[in-house]
Amino acid sequence: MQDELIRLQQFLENNHSFLLMSHRAPDGDAVGSVAGFYHYLSASGKDAIVILPDPPSDVLLPFLKDVPVKYFNEESEQVDALMSNANAMICLDFNASNRVGDLQGLLDSFKGQSVMIDHHPDPVKFTEFVISDPENSSTCQLIFECLEKINQVEHIDIKAAESLYLGIMTDTGSFRFPSVNANTHRILGCLMQKGIKHWMIHQQVFDNNRVEQLQLRGYAISEKLFLLNAGPNAIPFGYIALSQEELLRFNYKAGDTEGLVNVILSIEGIKAAVIVQEKMDGIKLSFRSKDNIYINQFAKKYFNGGGHKYAAGGSSSDSLSVTIERIVRLIPEIFS
Ligand code: 5GP
Ligand code: MN
Repeated sequence: MQDELIRLQQFLENNHSFLLMSHRAPDGDAVGSVAGFYHYLSASGKDAIVILPDPPSDVLLPFLKDVPVKYFNEESEQVDALMSNANAMICLDFNASNRVGDLQGLLDSFKGQSVMIDHHPDPVKFTEFVISDPENSSTCQLIFECLEKINQVEHIDIKAAESLYLGIMTDTGSFRFPSVNANTHRILGCLMQKGIKHWMIHQQVFDNNRVEQLQLRGYAISEKLFLLNAGPNAIPFGYIALSQEELLRFNYKAGDTEGLVNVILSIEGIKAAVIVQEKMDGIKLSFRSKDNIYINQFAKKYFNGGGHKYAAGGSSSDSLSVTIERIVRLIPEIFS
C-alpha cells in the first residue's frame, strides 16, 4: 500500500479541485466518507464538490449540511457538466462502478485522474489507482489511516472528525462487529480529541425514529418474520419480506427499515438473515450473517449483489413470492 499512499499524497498535492463520489442509497459510511473528505480538503485550502447518485435517509442529511452536494437523480445535467470538466475524482466506499446506478456511464467515461478508497472485498478497478483494505471496519477508518500516514491529521477538523466518526459507528454496528480492533478505538480517540460530541452523533442517527417507522418494524417482526430453525430440515436462518403495499401502508421513507435485518440476527441461534423489500425500483435484498457463515458469495451468486462477509446486498427481478421461494430453496447451501 506504500506506493498507493505516495500516489495519494501526490494526487492531493497536485490538484486543487476535486469531485468526491459515493454509492447509491448512501449509508452512514458513504455519507461520512464524502463529508469527512470534503471537510479535510476544505481545511487544507482545497475545493471539492460531492456527487451522489441519490440522497441518503433523512437522519444522515445533517452530516451534509455544510457540504456542496449534487444528486444525480435530481440534477443530472449539472452532474454531467461537473464530471466532464473535472480533473480529479475521489471515489469512496464502493468497489465497482456499477454501485452508482445510473451514474455508471459518466463514471466509466471519466477522463481525469481518479482514486478509489474502499473497504469492500474484490474491488473491480475503474479508477487510476486503488486503495483497498477489505479487513478495515469502514471506509471512514481507512480514510483516517491514509491521512495519518501522509501526515495530514492536523487538517482533520471537528466537522471532518464528526463525519468519520459517523461512518465508523454505522459500519461497525456501534463498534461491536469483528472488524473492530484496537486501532479502531485508537482512531475514535483521536476523533474525540478533535472535540466532537460523540453522543450527539448517536442520538442523531438512532433516536430520530418516526412513529410510523417503528410501527412498520413492529408489524414486520410480529406478522412477517419467518424462521427456518425448526423441523427436520432446520437451518439457523430467518427472513422478513415486505411488499410495496405494506411499505406504503406505513408511509415508508428511505432508511426506515435500516437495521431491521439485524433484529432477525439477534434471535437466539440464528446465524443468517435476509430482509426482502419490494421497492419502487425493484426488489432489494439485505443479508446479514455471523459465526463464519459468509453471506456475500451467496448474494453475488444468486442475487446480482455482493458486499462484506457478514453484510451483503442484492436485487431480484422475480416477483416477491418467487424471490422468497428461491431464497428458501437455495439458502441451505451456506450451512452445508
Ligand atoms: P445493506 O444491506 O446495508 O444495504 O448493504 C450491506 C452491504 O452490502 C454494504 O456494504 C453494501 O455496500 C453491500 N451491498 C448492498 N447492496 C449491494 C449490491 O447490490 N451489490 C453489491 N456488490 N454490494 C451490495
Ligand atoms: Mn462502508
